[in-house]
Amino acid sequence: MRPTGKLHLGNLVGALENWVKLQDQYDCYYFVADWHMLTTDYDDPSALQPNIQEMVTDWLAVGLDPAKAVFFVQSRLPEHAELFLLFSMVTPLGWLERVPTYKEQLENIKDRDIHTFGFLGYPVLQAADILMYKADCVPVGEDQVPHVELTREIARRFNLLYGRNDGAGAAKLDGKTYAESSLEGKAEFIHRGLVTIDPLFPEPESLLTPSPRLRGTDGRKMSKSYNNAIFLSDPPEVVSKKVAGMMTDPARQRRHDPGDPEKCPVFDHHKIFSQPEVVERANRECRTAEIGCVECKKLMAQSLNKFLEPVQERRKAYEQAPQKVWDILEEGTRKARRVANETMDEVRAAVKLT
Ligand code: SF4
Repeated sequence: MRPTGKLHLGNLVGALENWVKLQDQYDCYYFVADWHMLTTDYDDPSALQPNIQEMVTDWLAVGLDPAKAVFFVQSRLPEHAELFLLFSMVTPLGWLERVPTYKEQLENIKDRDIHTFGFLGYPVLQAADILMYKADCVPVGEDQVPHVELTREIARRFNLLYGRNDGAGAAKLDGKTYAESSLEGKAEFIHRGLVTIDPLFPEPESLLTPSPRLRGTDGRKMSKSYNNAIFLSDPPEVVSKKVAGMMTDPARQRRHDPGDPEKCPVFDHHKIFSQPEVVERANRECRTAEIGCVECKKLMAQSLNKFLEPVQERRKAYEQAPQKVWDILEEGTRKARRVANETMDEVRAAVKLT
């Protein structure tokens, strides 16, 4: 996750809740992607360190547990940069130019120049982040699936180029030996079972995060940059104030107009944070205009504040002892480094850099 500072409810339902579940099912590595932050926000890194601290404090507050998963900071492991560099040697430019988010962001981000080598290459850095730990799965939203696919392609190409092969001596295809064949030709040898490869890297799968829709206070996607977010660390009175000002179904102009809860961002939040009987009541009484928006919002704010109470209690403990957050990251970085060192020893040997 890029270190953007304090996290909001959109981050919670879009990623963190899933991460908390996954830490009980897998050996998870969660990291602060500070180098990734610089691919777009290189012009002002002044808030980078406080933002890391705020973000990781929120991770711990929602129940991510250093006893179950490894947390680390990307830039503390230069091995990621080394693997990125080696991957960049073998990644065709066309693969990167085709990544859908590349073009999209070039068009959308107008307030700074991201026509840079770092920005074009950031999916290669992601591939290094993932393959360093020989990950089986990567939890992502739908927009990140092409990046995992690119990671799979890079792994395949790297394996083909540098993985130890078996049976390549005698086999011939179209009159050529394995050694004489192009990369595509070599892939054909493997496809036909004439040669087997001992892969350096597995090809990871996307683990799609089921993310319920959560709109911000103005009805658009919840985002810090839209200024429409409710933060995990917002005190109860701030939550109540933000909820009171939230957009509702625009068809409910007057108190006695019936509404459609599915068109209302307040109802999105009810579905996630309120008890079933409250959700059922809001759903029914909105449609008949029995409940007014003011009351409906009050009920939602109550539910949300109740949900946030234990999160904020845990947060407070880390705010009072901020060094704990850095100690957790330091310990995680140490664990991650053990794996990274092993991977890089294998990679350097395969690329004849030893
Ligand atoms: S009653 Fe509730 S769900 Fe219906 S429009 Fe108002 S705030 Fe939204």
